[in-house]
Amino acid sequence: MLTRFCFAATVLLTLANFAIAAAKEEPKPADHAKIKAALLANYPLNTCVISGNPLTATSIDLFMDDRLVRICCPNCLTDFSTATDKDLAKLDKAVIAKQSPAYPLDQCPISGEKLNDHEDIINLVLANRLIKLCSTACVQNVKQNPTKTFAMLDSAVQAVKAEEDFNDKKRGDAEER
Ligand SMILES: [Zn+2]
Ligand SMILES: [Zn+2]
Repeated sequence: MLTRFCFAATVLLTLANFAIAAAKEEPKPADHAKIKAALLANYPLNTCVISGNPLTATSIDLFMDDRLVRICCPNCLTDFSTATDKDLAKLDKAVIAKQSPAYPLDQCPISGEKLNDHEDIINLVLANRLIKLCSTACVQNVKQNPTKTFAMLDSAVQAVKAEEDFNDKKRGDAEER
């Protein structure tokens, strides 16, 4: 009797573990929403990548793998699907132009080498975000684990912001005196 009970308990426990493992592996819908929000926040243009017309509430948001393309109307969508690579390159250029001035790191996030020491810095655009790298090996490294690099970029942005806030506060305090 006791043996049978133990067996049943073990089965139940195994099933429970299974359920936990399955829940862990399944991508959470919240993460999808977070990824989409980040893509929208980092989007470099307020115009259609095809026509150059302003984006409106009826514009089409195309989420493809790890990127977002915003298009103003169905006609442009048709044009986009025939020249995708060219338009994606245009989008990458816009990301580089927009994010370069406030880029928070002065070294390669993978090797730690100073970017100033390198003549050809590689501007990699992933998920509408700019990453400046020193070599093709570092590009491969980022592509294997972009989340880690994004986290580094995020904390670098935070650090820059914290320093600015600190300086603002210092200035404010000085003016009060
Ligand atoms: Zn259009
Ligand atoms: Zn590097």
